[in-house]
Amino acid sequence: MESRGKTVALVVAAGSGSRAGGALPKQYRPIAGRPLLSHTLDALEHPGIDEICVVIGEGQEPFYQRAVGDRLAMAPVLGGETRQQSVRNGLEALARTGASNVLVHDAARPFIPAAVVDRLLDALTRTAAAVPVLPVVDTLAKSQEQLGPIVSREDLVRVQTPQAFHFEKLLKAHAMWTGPDATDDAQVARAAGVAVEMVAGDEALEKLTYEEDFRRAELKLARPQESRTGFGFDVHAFADGESLWLGGLLIPHPRGLKGHSDADVVLHALTDALLGALGAGDIGDHFPPSDPKWRGAASSLFVEHARFLAESAGARIVHVDVTIICEAPRIGPHREAMRSHIADLLRLPISSVSIKATTTEGLGFAGRGEGIAAQAVASISLGART
Ligand code: MG
Repeated sequence: MESRGKTVALVVAAGSGSRAGGALPKQYRPIAGRPLLSHTLDALEHPGIDEICVVIGEGQEPFYQRAVGDRLAMAPVLGGETRQQSVRNGLEALARTGASNVLVHDAARPFIPAAVVDRLLDALTRTAAAVPVLPVVDTLAKSQEQLGPIVSREDLVRVQTPQAFHFEKLLKAHAMWTGPDATDDAQVARAAGVAVEMVAGDEALEKLTYEEDFRRAELKLARPQESRTGFGFDVHAFADGESLWLGGLLIPHPRGLKGHSDADVVLHALTDALLGALGAGDIGDHFPPSDPKWRGAASSLFVEHARFLAESAGARIVHVDVTIICEAPRIGPHREAMRSHIADLLRLPISSVSIKATTTEGLGFAGRGEGIAAQAVASISLGART
């Protein structure tokens, strides 16, 4: 493509009504856990679009901030009484930014095929205005008291957004417009004598208007939940002169476990189970035994780090199950306190934390009382946006 100037997407999100019901303006209604506008902004991430500017309604800044999140967005522009006034406000604000092309888009159309943007930008290399259109396939008739006469659909099209313009042409057209509120910008451009090219639109661009539109969008945008399971295993040897930490508790016992940190074999197995579910390596990768920083460290830190990694990945920890393998101490008397401590670390209800214990009938190192082994399984749910 030949070199071109800056292209800005101007998103009209200033509406206050909601035909779909609910007090929140529809452009801020949550779909799959995020405001509609936020999905629209995602869909406008296209290599041909340099910046995005959003026109919002009065008092909508908090909703806007929530939708924009930590995107690097231009400051929002305050809209007007009507859609057309809102677009005009946006264009006037953009006049100082050196935009060459503008794509005006309705916030309530969150699905924007990149191919449509490609076609529009391509059209702007040969013409000053272009809009996506679709043919009318249904039979059209006048709506009267009863079904009225058929209207020919042959020379009719449905006009969608984004609508693309050479910036100066559209700005001038809006300044010249004297008619009533215009429902789109192509009619404003045409009234100013600008020829508007038609490119193929897409059914995906449909505007979300009615309740059922939102339900369909929810199904389309909801990320499927993925259930994962991670497994962890650890062993530490008993040694004289050590304290015995198990499951984050200091347990009275003649001998403790030897290790670089506090040697809490239960929390180590648990940390590895969580890291395993996340596919994030093992405890040694995150807390190398060679690092003196972790000498004598409370292993609760490791579990909290794994929880932090899970949260950062958008994962929800669902359940953990631990088996402690030793002849002594007896775990039963400490089981509830251990569950409670781990539940606190993972911010889980206690019913989602299981602690079990077994001996090995006197066999092997655990049977000989040389050390303690622990196994843990962690179940997580990935894909949930919070
Ligand atoms: Mg260990």
